[in-house]
Amino acid sequence: MARATSQCGLSLIHLTLLLSSTLLSATLEEQNDNPITRFQRYLQINTAHPTPDYSSAVSYLISQANSIGGILHKTLEFSPGKPLLLLTWPGSHSSLPSILLNSHLDSVPAESSKWTHPPFSATRTSDGNIFARGAQDDKCIAMQYLEAIRNLRNNNFVPVRSVHISLVPDEEVGGFAGAAKFVESEEFQALNVGFALDEGQASVGDEFRVFYADRIPWNLKIKAKGQPGHGSKLYDNSAMENLMKSVEVVSRFRESQFDVVKAGKAMNSEVVSVNPVYLKAGVPTQDGFAMNVQPSEAEAGFDLRLTPTTDPEEMKRRIAAEWAPSVRNVSFEIIEKGPIRDYLGRPLLTATNDSNPWWLVFKQAITSVGEKLSKPEILPSTTDARYLRQKGIPVLGFSPMKNTPILLHDHNEHLRDTVYMKGIQVYESLISSLSSFTEASH
Ligand SMILES: [Zn+2]
Repeated sequence: MARATSQCGLSLIHLTLLLSSTLLSATLEEQNDNPITRFQRYLQINTAHPTPDYSSAVSYLISQANSIGGILHKTLEFSPGKPLLLLTWPGSHSSLPSILLNSHLDSVPAESSKWTHPPFSATRTSDGNIFARGAQDDKCIAMQYLEAIRNLRNNNFVPVRSVHISLVPDEEVGGFAGAAKFVESEEFQALNVGFALDEGQASVGDEFRVFYADRIPWNLKIKAKGQPGHGSKLYDNSAMENLMKSVEVVSRFRESQFDVVKAGKAMNSEVVSVNPVYLKAGVPTQDGFAMNVQPSEAEAGFDLRLTPTTDPEEMKRRIAAEWAPSVRNVSFEIIEKGPIRDYLGRPLLTATNDSNPWWLVFKQAITSVGEKLSKPEILPSTTDARYLRQKGIPVLGFSPMKNTPILLHDHNEHLRDTVYMKGIQVYESLISSLSSFTEASH
């Protein structure tokens, strides 16, 4: 009896130990593998330019997709060494136009010495902020798309339309080797995309921001020529004088646009912006420039951003006639960075009114989780969304970050864990609503 009791006692202890160790390992596993740690692991992969580690990022995302289950993956490569990962959650009616969720794999570089935590450590501070390059732009959305699908699958949700996630390279350097080639591919055409979401920006307020268009970047170079001469001589038509006249005219245009913003009549992204970014002139010497020579050539570079509705031909006429007229011995060159109109010649913007049924579904999905949207905006910068819009696809730029400082491309980029987690819930609502919506004509 005593022996039996002791044996029984031992077994109980053994069982208790076994149970507690199982519980412990489950807790540890949970601690090591939860939405936040999975996000941190993605952030720790250094995909910053100029040497983004795309292959590690792609492997990691495939492992995440596999852990969710039911997700197909395909790696495309339109430019050597620049993979594009395509994940697909098949819908029950896969012949219907699909939903595409886009995110870029790369990020801009980070100056480690200016950061309070190393930019690829993904350090989570005691107040919940996760510090990493890419935390806001835009690794958050890639992982939130996946986590939302993970949760929806766990709840046995089945999409009607197929849902694709494209994880594209090189967005931060123009997207020419990534999204620009992707939209021209047979693989893209086969997706039959009806509606897409791409990155947006953080909101400092309590409402989410949403973007229906990007501005259109042009690089403008104005080159002046003129009579060279002694620095002491006053004469007309020197290269410097010719260039400075151009700079004056451009500056006046800049002021006129900026005044509209200052008067509160438009947002920054609703006007044409032009900013001088370099000046090149002078006759070089060993220790600087010849101070007594008026050079025969001078050049200035401008970052010009058109609104989606700016008439590009009208803009070119203005540049030719007013900013860089040949009569003043000035010439110009415009380098257009991406498309200006869609394949039907329409401005690259997505309607945010009743005419666009996708907009109504999008808005409803946000309000149904108790969230608010601020007035739809034009993005002041540029994203891969423009390549999708060029194909006539409605695209909204959206990153669910509110009460968050705007830190994309900045030092100490970070995102709060609670904001990240809320974003997953928002995407659950968006993905389930958009993929179940069957009334859109396309
Ligand atoms: Zn981005």
